[in-house]
Amino acid sequence: MRFCRMSHSETLSVVEPVDGQDRRAVAPVICYPNETLPVPPMALYRAARAGAQKVDEVIVPPRDAGCFTAPAGHFFRITSIEGSQVGDLNLWNAKDLSERFYSGKTRALHGTHITTGERMWSSFPYLRPMATIVHDTLGWYGIDAFGGSVHDVIGTRCDPYTGNLLSDVQYHHCCHSNLIRALAAYLRVDPAEVEQHVHDVLNVFMCTGFTRDTGQYFMKASPVRPGDYLEFFAEIDILGALSACPGGDCSSEHTSDTAACYPLKVEVFAPSPNSLSDWSSPARNGYDRSHGLG
Ligand SMILES: [Zn+2]
Repeated sequence: MRFCRMSHSETLSVVEPVDGQDRRAVAPVICYPNETLPVPPMALYRAARAGAQKVDEVIVPPRDAGCFTAPAGHFFRITSIEGSQVGDLNLWNAKDLSERFYSGKTRALHGTHITTGERMWSSFPYLRPMATIVHDTLGWYGIDAFGGSVHDVIGTRCDPYTGNLLSDVQYHHCCHSNLIRALAAYLRVDPAEVEQHVHDVLNVFMCTGFTRDTGQYFMKASPVRPGDYLEFFAEIDILGALSACPGGDCSSEHTSDTAACYPLKVEVFAPSPNSLSDWSSPARNGYDRSHGLG
């Protein structure tokens, strides 16, 4: 039981009540039933993708990050090349960096890992789809015997602060730092100015879960192979940053230069002409923001 790790449990005895087993046996309910979420028009996306033209490509070097833009209605694809490699993805509204990917709410709406037909949602007060996954070559993986799956929204991003806390190291190529450097270079500003904009990621291709006995976050070797890709439809004008994690395929460790690392490729495609004439970018969330103040 993970709660037994709390230090005060050593001084305060915890006694299970007589009906403890009954309380545990209560069936769960889904926090956010998502049947009422707007359904992505996947057939429309497929039609727009059929005649799409590639308009940009960014190669993200190992243990580094790169930025890309994808206007609303475009597609962007992240591909494994050369070797098994996971990527840490940040998304912003290209016109307003205060609107950014909200991994926690995406997790609440879709679950711990996302795949085709599911979406990356933006922060409050916007809370709208930023991007919809339209193709996932790892969609076959499902949930393995360890409870692991791919493309998680449960991890945060590897960062030098946690590395320092746990291992007393100064390591400079964690995804957090890589994303800072890439965003600062793209915006042509001081890196210290952009750290606040870097946020919890979508762990592209990463295979993760929680251990059943201790509830701890685990990773295991990603099933991704060169040629695998994850492709998105940009619902709004997107500025993205992708880091090729120093953990490589995340089979052993990160926050070091130990793991074998490979580049990742990002491609952007313009939709087939006139294919989205009946489509419009989603509006920001409809809540009136009065918060009970009249
Ligand atoms: Zn990382």
